Amino acid sequence: MSDQATRANASATELERLDHWIGGASAQPATGDYIETVSPMTGAAHLRVAAGDAGDVARAVAAAEAARDGWRRFPAAERGRLMLALAQKMRAEKERLAEMERADTGKPMAGALGEIEGSAQYFEFYGSLVYLPVGDVLDVAPDQHVFTRREPYGVIGVITPWNLPLNQAARAIAPALVAGNTIVAKPSEITSRTTIEMARMASEVGFPAGVINIVLGTGEAVGEAIVRAEAVRKVAFTGSVGVGRAIGRIAAERIIPLTLELGGKSANIVFEDADLDLAAAEAVKGFTLNAGQVCSAGTRLLVQRSIYDRFMDKLAAEIAKIVPGENLGPLITPAQFERVKGYFTTAEEDGARLLAGGGIAEVAGQEGGFYVKPTIYADVTNSMRIAREEIFGPVGVAIAFEDEDEAVRIANDSDYGLIGTLWSRDVSRALRVADRIEAGQIFVNVWNTMSVQTPFGGHKNSGYGREKGIEAIHHYSHLKTVTVKI
Ligand code: NAD
Repeated sequence: MSDQATRANASATELERLDHWIGGASAQPATGDYIETVSPMTGAAHLRVAAGDAGDVARAVAAAEAARDGWRRFPAAERGRLMLALAQKMRAEKERLAEMERADTGKPMAGALGEIEGSAQYFEFYGSLVYLPVGDVLDVAPDQHVFTRREPYGVIGVITPWNLPLNQAARAIAPALVAGNTIVAKPSEITSRTTIEMARMASEVGFPAGVINIVLGTGEAVGEAIVRAEAVRKVAFTGSVGVGRAIGRIAAERIIPLTLELGGKSANIVFEDADLDLAAAEAVKGFTLNAGQVCSAGTRLLVQRSIYDRFMDKLAAEIAKIVPGENLGPLITPAQFERVKGYFTTAEEDGARLLAGGGIAEVAGQEGGFYVKPTIYADVTNSMRIAREEIFGPVGVAIAFEDEDEAVRIANDSDYGLIGTLWSRDVSRALRVADRIEAGQIFVNVWNTMSVQTPFGGHKNSGYGREKGIEAIHHYSHLKTVTVKI
């Protein structure tokens, strides 16, 4: 055996192992296989994650199916108390959870802590909604008592990505639970740790066994098996457009509903009458937060020509405040690192002007990490690949426009429709433009202040269905009408 192979074996045996969570207990994969992940901060081997298969999914679905009736009939107040207890536990252990999230993703601690707080808020918010009325009484005829009621689907499949791991899982799991469903979830194989920890904590605070089940592994082996499982009656998917389409085909065959939360290439429009200092600071935050690995990133900056040069100077000054390894984390994987570097080459070939960044970043002590410099390209046209494709790195592109009509035309000339942001002191214009942008969320003079209360979802290729807010409960329950002859 070569020295290198010996070292690899030694490190594999020392790495922490992560198993599924099925029926209220840790469960090893039937295959006995594990996927080795690497740290985005150093490139070194990080964790061994269970490589589940269809058999493991079948075990988890059976556990969720067995827990289904009990959970549905659980008193609402009791269900709410459990949700709040889980939120409290997550908060009490937020540093530990944030350390785990940071180790998996490399994100700065402030971002990781914010993500855990947001995750706790989902359980708190939905836990407090258990007393919402679940139906209406309809005045159809004097000799009929007619009422509607919202009922759970049964078992919900939840499939989530790696960029905000616990947050995205909590966003779907909390409303699904409060609507009376049980769960089979699959986090990204790269960032599974906090989702498993959440399920373990749920058991500790008293959630019945089988209500929350987590199966680890790849999308092909585990994700697809969840979508195909007969007892899974709805799937909430957060991820890429390509996988969303693949899941959509299976769901169409099975006639089950989906919530699809997919990508974005969101426009951030700066009009000449805006507070330019604020707009520049927020714009840079908008495409560098979480190293740009955010579906709602404001990556297309549309800037009115009359202030274009002035605004580029402000952007350059703001971007200088973003320091890799300090307030900018690495990209998640070697593949994502290569992908983003590829866009630097594409931008150059397409003739975009590099305003800042545009290459890899060296971080002292983290030489093997997947860091790139925060980057902005100027003089971009909306037909360039860097303006059309979701890069998922800390890369913004600046496009000039003449007037309101052209700004709206460019903003809507995209396959995506997740977020639209605009900066202007003219309230009438702000409302007009907000009305015309094809996106699920619009922000005026602020970037991305979302809360658990605000419904969230896409137009066009950004997906359909809504997460968050009271609205999400309607996506995790369906309506039954009961007519009684008196
Ligand atoms: P991805 O689509 O590659 O993977 C998402 C999840 O799907 C992972 O758990 C993966 O293992 C699983 N998966 C992969 N192939 C599958 C298959 N054939 N069947 C079932 N499951 C499968 O996405 P990603 O690279 O992990 O995440 C980045 C993408 O997620 C970006 O496009 C981003 O915009 C999007 N995203 C959207 C939102 C939103 O709320 N709209 C939020 C976060 C991320």
